[in-house]
Amino acid sequence: MQRKQLQKQVKRLTEEKKKLEKVEAGLIKRGLDEPLRDAFTELSTVDNHPADSGSQLYERSKDLGLLDATRQQLGDIEQALSAIREGSYGICRRCGRPISEARLAAMPSALLCITCKRIGEERDFDNRPIEEEFLYPPFGRTFLDEEDSVVFDGEDAWEAVERYGTSFGTVTRRRNRFTKQGNPS
Ligand SMILES: [Zn+2]
Repeated sequence: MQRKQLQKQVKRLTEEKKKLEKVEAGLIKRGLDEPLRDAFTELSTVDNHPADSGSQLYERSKDLGLLDATRQQLGDIEQALSAIREGSYGICRRCGRPISEARLAAMPSALLCITCKRIGEERDFDNRPIEEEFLYPPFGRTFLDEEDSVVFDGEDAWEAVERYGTSFGTVTRRRNRFTKQGNPS
């Protein structure tokens, strides 16, 4: 990559870094680094409805996920910047082949070529709990509908719960029955 292009990438990376640092600071300011108990505005959580704590927990774990992702991106940017300094920028860390300029233009912090990036993502998908290695077929991919499959697999599990309603619609028959009995529904 030419010097001029590299300078452009440094500029983009630095700008992105500043933006992400602001996001990071904002998340921390929301009380993430304090223990959860202190993050509650009330003095005691004892008389709180569990749902209140629940949604606060939910918001908090969402924020934590966001913070994780932000820090991950910041780490990538840091590594890309040091690769530029060392002269290894644009070379895939995994296979050593050049990363396409189109990819670098779209994602200046890319450290892997698109092929290696995809391999990494597939690995992530395979990253299932270790005990599942003893299961056949593994829970991760049981929608195989194999001809001789007699085990209760993912597909059977889906069928078992599907009759209670899906996002395509709830089971209206059940609701009607409740209504007839005079239950508020
Ligand atoms: Zn590669």
